Amino acid sequence: MPGLGLGTWQNDDPDACAESVRIAVEMGYRHVDTAQIYRNEGAVGRGLTEASVDRDDVFLATKVWINKLAYDDVIELTEESLERLGTDYLDLLYVHWPSGEYDPEETLSAFEQLRDDGLIERIGVSNFEPNHLEAAQAAIDAPIFANQVEMHPLLQQHELREFCADVGVELVAYSPLARGDVFEVDVLSDIADANDVSEAQVSLAWLREKGVTTIPKATGSEHIRDNWASLSLELSGDEIERIDAIDTERRKINPDFGPSAW
Ligand code: NAP
Repeated sequence: MPGLGLGTWQNDDPDACAESVRIAVEMGYRHVDTAQIYRNEGAVGRGLTEASVDRDDVFLATKVWINKLAYDDVIELTEESLERLGTDYLDLLYVHWPSGEYDPEETLSAFEQLRDDGLIERIGVSNFEPNHLEAAQAAIDAPIFANQVEMHPLLQQHELREFCADVGVELVAYSPLARGDVFEVDVLSDIADANDVSEAQVSLAWLREKGVTTIPKATGSEHIRDNWASLSLELSGDEIERIDAIDTERRKINPDFGPSAW
């Protein structure tokens, strides 16, 4: 899975969204993240079609929303996603949250069926805690490939990172810029100034150093390019330690149906 992708949540204007995807893919991004609930799969698909890059060269992921996690719904809604995205397979399909209609056996057996049928290549989950991951993996034979969760220097996910490394599940960091909060952290600004880069790049480079895939959402070419440039930023051991030492738990996404709010 390419370690830097483009997030698309709240990229709601169809033309702007399609253009963001096209720009990103033509710049070199090879991973695009969307979800059924974002209601922009059509625009994402259009951006991919308009880009001068083969669909097969892009890692495309979407997610099934919590009210559509019964077996038949998963199959039907995924087929609709494929139609909107203009593709006949997904590289990764996530369970968006372990909530609502989610039932490990029923939901994930539908994911396994989609994988057996070649409509999805990998099964992912999102917003899962270790106990949810254990139950998910126990429910099916196919591997759980990735867990997409909020992670950034202000929410470092120590326990979950260790757990995922132990069980061989990839971590994908959403809101990797803490939805803009990384620009207000002195340590990150100091390191950004010292390297003549943005705080966004510092956050993305730190996550990469942790072995975590990131999917920052960016709309215009300036932000898309700035985030791409993080791939050239190598933080020093001292800089990484200073970021590791940020001791906060600032969670930006905490809906009442999510595990952190239970
Ligand atoms: P984020 O990526 O942390 O932050 C996005 C914000 O940062 C936008 O306002 C964006 O502005 C701005 N930005 C991006 N690059 C910038 C740069 N280089 N300099 C200055 N500002 C910059 O937040 P997010 O959208 O919450 O998370 C990223 C993606 O993760 C989402 O789009 C979605 O795909 C996924 N996600 C998944 C879940 C889940 O439950 N699985 C939850 C939340 C998010 P512009 O748009 O103006 O560029």
